[in-house]
Amino acid sequence: MKNFQILTLFIGFFVLYSCKNDPNSTLETQKVLNEVSQIDANFGIVIHGGAGTILKKNMTDSLELAYRNKLEEAIRIGHDILNNGGDAIEAVTKTINILEDSPLFNAGKGSVFTHEETNELDASVMDGSNLNAGAVAGVTHIKNPIDLAVEVMNNSDHVMLAGKGAEIFAQSRGIELVDPSYFYTEKRYQSLQRIKDKEKTELDHDTKVSFSDAFIKDSKFGTVGCAALDKNGNLAAGTSTGGMTNKRWNRIGDAPIIGAGTYANNKTCAVSSTGWGEFFIRAMVAHDISALMEYKGWSLQEAAKEVIQNKVPALGGDGGIVAIDKDGNVAMEFNTAGMYRAHMNAEGELIIGIYKEE
Ligand code: ASP
Repeated sequence: MKNFQILTLFIGFFVLYSCKNDPNSTLETQKVLNEVSQIDANFGIVIHGGAGTILKKNMTDSLELAYRNKLEEAIRIGHDILNNGGDAIEAVTKTINILEDSPLFNAGKGSVFTHEETNELDASVMDGSNLNAGAVAGVTHIKNPIDLAVEVMNNSDHVMLAGKGAEIFAQSRGIELVDPSYFYTEKRYQSLQRIKDKEKTELDHDTKVSFSDAFIKDSKFGTVGCAALDKNGNLAAGTSTGGMTNKRWNRIGDAPIIGAGTYANNKTCAVSSTGWGEFFIRAMVAHDISALMEYKGWSLQEAAKEVIQNKVPALGGDGGIVAIDKDGNVAMEFNTAGMYRAHMNAEGELIIGIYKEE
Protein backbone atom coordinates (compact mmCIF):
# COMPACT_ATOMS: atom_id res chain seq x y z
CA MET A 1 0.00 0.00 0.00
CA LYS A 2 1.37 3.42 -0.95
CA ASN A 3 2.14 5.94 1.81
CA PHE A 4 -0.53 8.41 0.72
CA GLN A 5 -3.16 5.64 0.73
CA ILE A 6 -2.26 4.76 4.34
CA LEU A 7 -2.50 8.45 5.21
CA THR A 8 -5.90 8.70 3.49
CA LEU A 9 -7.22 5.73 5.49
CA PHE A 10 -5.86 7.19 8.71
CA ILE A 11 -7.57 10.56 8.10
CA GLY A 12 -10.83 8.74 7.27
CA PHE A 13 -10.78 6.71 10.51
CA PHE A 14 -9.86 9.79 12.53
CA VAL A 15 -12.79 11.78 11.09
CA LEU A 16 -15.20 8.89 11.71
CA TYR A 17 -14.00 8.41 15.29
CA SER A 18 -14.15 12.08 16.24
CA CYS A 19 -17.65 12.59 14.81
CA LYS A 20 -19.37 9.36 15.71
CA ASN A 21 -21.10 10.59 18.90
CA ASP A 22 -22.27 13.92 17.54
CA PRO A 23 -25.55 13.64 15.53
CA ASN A 24 -25.23 17.19 14.20
CA SER A 25 -22.00 16.34 12.54
CA THR A 26 -23.38 13.57 10.30
CA LEU A 27 -23.61 15.77 7.21
CA GLU A 28 -20.27 17.38 7.87
CA THR A 29 -18.76 13.92 8.38
CA GLN A 30 -20.15 12.71 5.07
CA LYS A 31 -18.75 15.77 3.32
CA VAL A 32 -15.31 15.29 4.78
CA LEU A 33 -15.38 11.57 3.97
CA ASN A 34 -16.35 12.35 0.38
CA GLU A 35 -13.42 14.72 0.13
CA VAL A 36 -11.08 12.20 1.72
CA SER A 37 -12.21 9.47 -0.66
CA GLN A 38 -11.45 11.81 -3.58
CA ILE A 39 -7.86 12.44 -2.54
CA ASP A 40 -6.45 9.43 -4.33
CA ALA A 41 -9.42 8.69 -6.61
CA ASN A 42 -8.45 7.80 -10.13
CA PHE A 43 -9.32 10.11 -13.01
CA GLY A 44 -8.07 10.99 -16.46
CA ILE A 45 -8.73 12.81 -19.69
CA VAL A 46 -7.90 12.24 -23.34
CA ILE A 47 -8.52 14.47 -26.38
CA HIS A 48 -8.17 14.48 -30.14
CA GLY A 49 -8.01 17.28 -32.68
CA GLY A 50 -8.73 15.16 -35.75
CA ALA A 51 -7.07 12.36 -37.73
CA GLY A 52 -5.87 12.29 -41.32
CA THR A 53 -2.87 12.59 -43.62
CA ILE A 54 -0.91 14.59 -41.09
CA LEU A 55 2.74 14.35 -42.12
CA LYS A 56 5.80 15.95 -40.56
CA LYS A 57 7.04 16.98 -44.02
CA ASN A 58 3.93 19.11 -44.54
CA MET A 59 4.23 20.83 -41.19
CA THR A 60 6.25 23.90 -40.21
CA ASP A 61 7.88 24.00 -36.78
CA SER A 62 5.78 26.97 -35.73
CA LEU A 63 2.51 25.35 -36.83
CA GLU A 64 3.39 22.13 -35.05
CA LEU A 65 4.17 24.10 -31.90
CA ALA A 66 0.87 25.95 -32.19
CA TYR A 67 -1.01 22.63 -32.35
CA ARG A 68 0.91 21.17 -29.40
CA ASN A 69 0.37 24.30 -27.30
CA LYS A 70 -3.36 24.40 -27.99
CA LEU A 71 -3.77 20.68 -27.23
CA GLU A 72 -1.93 21.23 -23.95
CA GLU A 73 -3.94 24.32 -23.04
CA ALA A 74 -7.20 22.47 -23.70
CA ILE A 75 -6.36 19.28 -21.83
CA ARG A 76 -5.05 21.19 -18.81
CA ILE A 77 -8.40 22.98 -18.48
CA GLY A 78 -10.23 19.66 -18.31
CA HIS A 79 -7.62 18.09 -16.06
CA ASP A 80 -7.89 20.96 -13.54
CA ILE A 81 -11.66 20.54 -13.42
CA LEU A 82 -11.31 16.81 -12.74
CA ASN A 83 -8.50 17.31 -10.24
CA ASN A 84 -10.71 19.73 -8.28
CA GLY A 85 -13.48 17.14 -8.13
CA GLY A 86 -15.50 18.52 -11.06
CA ASP A 87 -17.61 16.22 -13.18
CA ALA A 88 -16.64 14.53 -16.42
CA ILE A 89 -19.28 16.34 -18.49
CA GLU A 90 -17.96 19.73 -17.42
CA ALA A 91 -14.36 18.70 -18.11
CA VAL A 92 -15.30 17.45 -21.59
CA THR A 93 -17.30 20.58 -22.43
CA LYS A 94 -14.77 23.15 -21.25
CA THR A 95 -11.91 21.29 -22.94
CA ILE A 96 -13.78 21.15 -26.23
CA ASN A 97 -14.65 24.87 -25.95
CA ILE A 98 -10.93 25.73 -26.10
CA LEU A 99 -10.50 23.66 -29.27
CA GLU A 100 -13.72 25.04 -30.82
CA ASP A 101 -12.50 28.60 -30.24
CA SER A 102 -9.16 27.90 -31.94
CA PRO A 103 -8.99 28.39 -35.73
CA LEU A 104 -6.51 25.50 -35.88
CA PHE A 105 -9.24 22.88 -35.62
CA ASN A 106 -12.25 21.95 -37.71
CA ALA A 107 -14.82 22.80 -35.05
CA GLY A 108 -16.41 26.11 -34.09
CA LYS A 109 -14.09 28.87 -35.39
CA GLY A 110 -12.10 27.36 -38.26
CA SER A 111 -14.75 24.88 -39.36
CA VAL A 112 -14.49 23.59 -42.92
CA PHE A 113 -16.69 24.92 -45.72
CA THR A 114 -19.60 23.22 -47.41
CA HIS A 115 -19.95 23.09 -51.19
CA GLU A 116 -22.18 26.18 -50.91
CA GLU A 117 -19.38 27.98 -49.01
CA THR A 118 -21.19 27.97 -45.70
CA ASN A 119 -20.27 26.30 -42.40
CA GLU A 120 -22.54 23.64 -40.90
CA LEU A 121 -21.53 22.37 -37.51
CA ASP A 122 -22.29 19.11 -35.68
CA ALA A 123 -21.67 18.09 -32.06
CA SER A 124 -22.70 15.55 -29.45
CA VAL A 125 -22.15 14.67 -25.84
CA MET A 126 -22.92 11.65 -23.66
CA ASP A 127 -23.02 11.12 -19.92
CA GLY A 128 -21.89 7.59 -19.00
CA SER A 129 -23.50 7.73 -15.56
CA ASN A 130 -27.08 7.68 -16.86
CA LEU A 131 -26.68 7.21 -20.65
CA ASN A 132 -28.18 10.64 -21.26
CA ALA A 133 -27.06 12.24 -24.48
CA GLY A 134 -27.49 15.40 -26.52
CA ALA A 135 -26.61 16.29 -30.11
CA VAL A 136 -26.97 19.04 -32.69
CA ALA A 137 -26.51 18.80 -36.44
CA GLY A 138 -26.15 21.32 -39.22
CA VAL A 139 -26.14 24.45 -37.07
CA THR A 140 -24.81 27.63 -38.67
CA HIS A 141 -24.88 30.30 -35.95
CA ILE A 142 -23.76 28.49 -32.78
CA LYS A 143 -20.36 29.61 -31.50
CA ASN A 144 -19.82 26.49 -29.38
CA PRO A 145 -21.97 23.61 -30.63
CA ILE A 146 -20.86 21.34 -27.75
CA ASP A 147 -22.59 23.74 -25.32
CA LEU A 148 -25.80 23.41 -27.28
CA ALA A 149 -25.48 19.60 -27.27
CA VAL A 150 -25.22 19.71 -23.47
CA GLU A 151 -28.27 21.98 -23.36
CA VAL A 152 -30.24 19.54 -25.52
CA MET A 153 -29.22 16.73 -23.15
CA ASN A 154 -30.09 18.59 -19.96
CA ASN A 155 -32.97 20.84 -20.91
CA SER A 156 -34.98 19.27 -23.71
CA ASP A 157 -37.00 16.08 -24.11
CA HIS A 158 -34.88 15.13 -27.09
CA VAL A 159 -31.49 13.72 -27.97
CA MET A 160 -30.82 15.39 -31.32
CA LEU A 161 -31.91 18.72 -32.79
CA ALA A 162 -30.98 19.95 -36.26
CA GLY A 163 -30.65 23.17 -38.25
CA LYS A 164 -33.00 26.09 -37.68
CA GLY A 165 -34.98 24.36 -34.95
CA ALA A 166 -31.81 23.70 -32.96
CA GLU A 167 -30.98 27.40 -33.20
CA ILE A 168 -34.44 28.50 -32.06
CA PHE A 169 -33.96 26.21 -29.07
CA ALA A 170 -30.47 27.70 -28.53
CA GLN A 171 -31.92 31.21 -28.44
CA SER A 172 -34.53 30.18 -25.90
CA ARG A 173 -31.77 28.76 -23.67
CA GLY A 174 -29.43 31.76 -23.89
CA ILE A 175 -26.74 29.93 -25.90
CA GLU A 176 -24.37 32.27 -27.75
CA LEU A 177 -25.20 32.79 -31.42
CA VAL A 178 -22.82 34.42 -33.89
CA ASP A 179 -22.94 35.72 -37.44
CA PRO A 180 -21.84 32.92 -39.82
CA SER A 181 -18.85 35.07 -40.87
CA TYR A 182 -17.37 34.28 -37.42
CA PHE A 183 -16.45 30.78 -38.65
CA TYR A 184 -14.48 32.02 -41.69
CA THR A 185 -10.79 31.26 -41.99
CA GLU A 186 -8.82 31.82 -45.18
CA LYS A 187 -7.09 28.43 -44.86
CA ARG A 188 -10.36 26.46 -44.83
CA TYR A 189 -11.81 28.58 -47.62
CA GLN A 190 -8.78 27.88 -49.83
CA SER A 191 -9.05 24.14 -49.04
CA LEU A 192 -12.58 24.21 -50.39
CA GLN A 193 -11.46 25.99 -53.55
CA ARG A 194 -8.71 23.42 -54.13
CA ILE A 195 -11.10 20.52 -53.71
CA LYS A 196 -13.67 22.14 -55.99
CA ASP A 197 -11.03 22.68 -58.70
CA LYS A 198 -9.94 19.05 -58.41
CA GLU A 199 -13.50 17.87 -58.47
CA LYS A 200 -14.19 19.90 -61.58
CA THR A 201 -11.20 18.49 -63.44
CA GLU A 202 -11.80 14.91 -62.41
CA LEU A 203 -15.54 14.85 -62.82
CA ASP A 204 -15.96 17.23 -65.76
CA HIS A 205 -17.31 14.60 -68.11
CA ASP A 206 -18.85 12.38 -65.50
CA THR A 207 -22.55 12.78 -64.83
CA LYS A 208 -22.36 10.79 -61.61
CA VAL A 209 -21.52 13.20 -58.79
CA SER A 210 -19.62 10.90 -56.49
CA PHE A 211 -18.43 11.46 -52.97
CA SER A 212 -15.26 9.71 -54.11
CA ASP A 213 -11.65 9.53 -53.02
CA ALA A 214 -10.87 12.20 -55.60
CA PHE A 215 -12.03 14.88 -53.23
CA ILE A 216 -12.54 13.11 -49.92
CA LYS A 217 -8.87 12.54 -49.17
CA ASP A 218 -7.48 15.44 -47.18
CA SER A 219 -10.88 17.06 -46.87
CA LYS A 220 -11.25 16.21 -43.23
CA PHE A 221 -8.91 17.36 -40.52
CA GLY A 222 -9.36 18.75 -37.13
CA THR A 223 -12.61 17.49 -35.65
CA VAL A 224 -12.23 17.75 -31.90
CA GLY A 225 -13.24 15.38 -29.14
CA CYS A 226 -12.69 14.51 -25.52
CA ALA A 227 -13.32 11.60 -23.17
CA ALA A 228 -12.97 11.88 -19.41
CA LEU A 229 -13.23 9.87 -16.19
CA ASP A 230 -13.96 11.92 -13.06
CA LYS A 231 -13.12 11.18 -9.44
CA ASN A 232 -16.62 9.81 -8.83
CA GLY A 233 -16.10 7.16 -11.48
CA ASN A 234 -18.31 8.87 -14.05
CA LEU A 235 -17.38 8.77 -17.71
CA ALA A 236 -18.32 11.29 -20.40
CA ALA A 237 -17.44 11.95 -24.02
CA GLY A 238 -18.06 14.73 -26.52
CA THR A 239 -17.27 15.52 -30.15
CA SER A 240 -17.55 18.73 -32.19
CA THR A 241 -16.89 19.30 -35.90
CA GLY A 242 -17.47 21.30 -39.04
CA GLY A 243 -17.70 17.95 -40.85
CA MET A 244 -16.02 17.39 -44.21
CA THR A 245 -14.93 20.04 -46.70
CA ASN A 246 -17.19 20.31 -49.73
CA LYS A 247 -20.06 18.43 -48.07
CA ARG A 248 -23.44 19.24 -49.60
CA TRP A 249 -27.13 18.53 -49.33
CA ASN A 250 -27.00 19.09 -45.56
CA ARG A 251 -24.78 16.05 -45.21
CA ILE A 252 -24.39 15.00 -41.57
CA GLY A 253 -21.44 12.92 -40.38
CA ASP A 254 -20.83 10.66 -37.42
CA ALA A 255 -19.93 13.36 -34.89
CA PRO A 256 -23.50 14.08 -33.76
CA ILE A 257 -24.60 10.45 -33.99
CA ILE A 258 -24.62 8.84 -30.54
CA GLY A 259 -22.92 5.46 -30.86
CA ALA A 260 -20.92 6.47 -33.93
CA GLY A 261 -19.08 9.71 -33.06
CA THR A 262 -19.63 9.70 -29.32
CA TYR A 263 -20.49 7.14 -26.66
CA ALA A 264 -20.08 6.85 -22.90
CA ASN A 265 -21.15 4.20 -20.42
CA ASN A 266 -19.89 3.95 -16.84
CA LYS A 267 -19.88 0.15 -17.22
CA THR A 268 -17.27 0.30 -19.97
CA CYS A 269 -15.70 3.42 -21.48
CA ALA A 270 -16.14 6.86 -23.06
CA VAL A 271 -15.22 7.31 -26.74
CA SER A 272 -14.92 10.20 -29.20
CA SER A 273 -14.33 9.48 -32.89
CA THR A 274 -12.78 11.33 -35.80
CA GLY A 275 -12.54 10.22 -39.40
CA TRP A 276 -14.56 9.56 -42.50
CA GLY A 277 -18.01 9.87 -41.00
CA GLU A 278 -19.93 7.73 -43.46
CA PHE A 279 -17.89 4.71 -42.40
CA PHE A 280 -17.95 5.57 -38.72
CA ILE A 281 -21.75 5.66 -38.85
CA ARG A 282 -21.96 2.30 -40.58
CA ALA A 283 -19.46 0.72 -38.17
CA MET A 284 -21.12 2.36 -35.12
CA VAL A 285 -17.55 2.89 -33.99
CA ALA A 286 -17.93 4.40 -30.51
CA HIS A 287 -20.66 2.02 -29.35
CA ASP A 288 -18.95 -0.96 -30.93
CA ILE A 289 -15.86 -0.41 -28.77
CA SER A 290 -18.05 -0.23 -25.67
CA ALA A 291 -20.02 -3.31 -26.74
CA LEU A 292 -16.88 -5.41 -27.26
CA MET A 293 -15.90 -4.54 -23.70
CA GLU A 294 -19.36 -5.12 -22.24
CA TYR A 295 -20.36 -8.31 -24.04
CA LYS A 296 -17.01 -9.92 -24.78
CA GLY A 297 -15.02 -8.73 -21.79
CA TRP A 298 -12.29 -7.24 -24.00
CA SER A 299 -9.93 -4.56 -22.72
CA LEU A 300 -10.36 -1.02 -24.06
CA GLN A 301 -7.16 -1.33 -26.10
CA GLU A 302 -8.23 -4.65 -27.68
CA ALA A 303 -11.66 -3.27 -28.54
CA ALA A 304 -10.34 0.00 -29.97
CA LYS A 305 -7.75 -1.84 -32.08
CA GLU A 306 -10.30 -4.26 -33.51
CA VAL A 307 -12.69 -1.51 -34.58
CA ILE A 308 -10.14 1.01 -35.87
CA GLN A 309 -7.55 -1.34 -37.41
CA ASN A 310 -9.90 -4.04 -38.74
CA LYS A 311 -13.56 -3.12 -38.92
CA VAL A 312 -13.37 0.44 -40.30
CA PRO A 313 -10.62 -0.18 -42.91
CA ALA A 314 -12.41 -3.35 -44.08
CA LEU A 315 -15.33 -1.13 -45.05
CA GLY A 316 -12.98 1.35 -46.76
CA GLY A 317 -12.93 4.07 -44.13
CA ASP A 318 -10.22 5.73 -42.10
CA GLY A 319 -9.82 7.72 -38.90
CA GLY A 320 -9.33 7.19 -35.20
CA ILE A 321 -10.69 7.46 -31.69
CA VAL A 322 -9.69 8.54 -28.23
CA ALA A 323 -11.22 6.69 -25.29
CA ILE A 324 -10.89 6.17 -21.56
CA ASP A 325 -12.28 3.28 -19.55
CA LYS A 326 -13.76 3.10 -16.07
CA ASP A 327 -10.33 2.32 -14.60
CA GLY A 328 -8.60 5.23 -16.33
CA ASN A 329 -6.95 3.16 -19.10
CA VAL A 330 -6.69 5.14 -22.30
CA ALA A 331 -6.71 4.31 -26.02
CA MET A 332 -5.61 6.69 -28.79
CA GLU A 333 -6.03 4.46 -31.83
CA PHE A 334 -5.93 5.59 -35.48
CA ASN A 335 -5.30 4.11 -38.91
CA THR A 336 -4.25 7.36 -40.62
CA ALA A 337 -0.79 8.95 -40.86
CA GLY A 338 -1.51 11.09 -37.83
CA MET A 339 -3.97 12.20 -35.21
CA TYR A 340 -3.69 15.28 -33.01
CA ARG A 341 -4.02 13.87 -29.52
CA ALA A 342 -3.21 14.31 -25.84
CA HIS A 343 -3.69 12.43 -22.59
CA MET A 344 -3.31 13.38 -18.93
CA ASN A 345 -3.63 10.95 -16.04
CA ALA A 346 -4.38 11.51 -12.36
CA GLU A 347 -0.70 12.07 -11.60
CA GLY A 348 -0.66 14.94 -14.09
CA GLU A 349 1.57 13.13 -16.60
CA LEU A 350 0.99 14.60 -20.04
CA ILE A 351 1.40 12.90 -23.43
CA ILE A 352 0.94 14.86 -26.64
CA GLY A 353 1.18 13.30 -30.09
CA ILE A 354 0.58 14.21 -33.72
CA TYR A 355 2.26 11.64 -35.97
CA LYS A 356 2.13 7.88 -35.94
CA GLU A 357 5.68 7.30 -34.73
CA GLU A 358 5.68 9.05 -31.38
N1 ASP B 1 -16.00 12.60 -38.61
C1 ASP B 1 -16.16 13.90 -39.19
C2 ASP B 1 -17.27 13.84 -40.21
O1 ASP B 1 -17.33 12.89 -40.95
C3 ASP B 1 -14.94 14.43 -39.83
C4 ASP B 1 -13.66 14.24 -39.06
O2 ASP B 1 -13.68 13.68 -37.99
O3 ASP B 1 -12.60 14.67 -39.52
O4 ASP B 1 -18.03 14.76 -40.31
